[in-house]
Amino acid sequence: MTAFFKTFYSMLFPPLCVSCEKRVENEDVVLCISCIKSIMLHSSFFCPVCEARVPPGEKICHGDAGYILAAATSYEQKAVRNLIHALKYSETREGAMLIAHIIFEYLKRVLPLSLLDFSEYIAIPIPLYKRKERTRGYNQSFLIAEELKKIFEMHGMMFPEIHTDIITRNTNTLSQTECQNIKERKKNISGCFSVSPIKIVEKKNIVLIDDVHTTGATIGEAVRILKQHGAKRIIALVCAKT
Ligand SMILES: [Zn+2]
Ligand SMILES: [Zn+2]
Repeated sequence: MTAFFKTFYSMLFPPLCVSCEKRVENEDVVLCISCIKSIMLHSSFFCPVCEARVPPGEKICHGDAGYILAAATSYEQKAVRNLIHALKYSETREGAMLIAHIIFEYLKRVLPLSLLDFSEYIAIPIPLYKRKERTRGYNQSFLIAEELKKIFEMHGMMFPEIHTDIITRNTNTLSQTECQNIKERKKNISGCFSVSPIKIVEKKNIVLIDDVHTTGATIGEAVRILKQHGAKRIIALVCAKT
């Protein structure tokens, strides 16, 4: 859309906060100021199994999970839920920028920027099933990764190279919300990813990027297959956990 039509369009349809539906000044921001301010950020990493807080640099209690969970905030919060929902289901791509800012603010709370070193990592956004990506027009995890990279670079910091071709999603699994319990979810997702080329993953540290961590079935499955192919340390970096 040209700048002229954009202005014209926003006069006819003033941009509204995706959470409380009050008017927002800047349509690229998606949430209004008071909704943004309402978001409470976490200040630690988590064990994905028992949700215990994990101080940076310390080993997690459930090492067999294979990864550490870095979740910026809680999905229980209305503004967070609506923000993620808008990005996933209402074609509100701009939501990715705000989500990336939320994740970056969170990382700053967990450890000082000078210690935030991803130089030995590669980044992998959790892929969608191809058909789903075509219908949606984008993979929200990839958009979040790209926005994070921009923010890191704005701060003169390294962000790991983003790889979208290493893991692919093979089967059209049921939506995770359609599965009743954790066992079903795990079964539903099992074997849904494949890795290639395998060489890239070997001995690499990996940041997996996704919007939400719910039961951990999806991320757990990605971790399982990446570890199988020789991945070292894995951090799941998400906007929210349930
Ligand atoms: Zn609002
Ligand atoms: Zn634990």
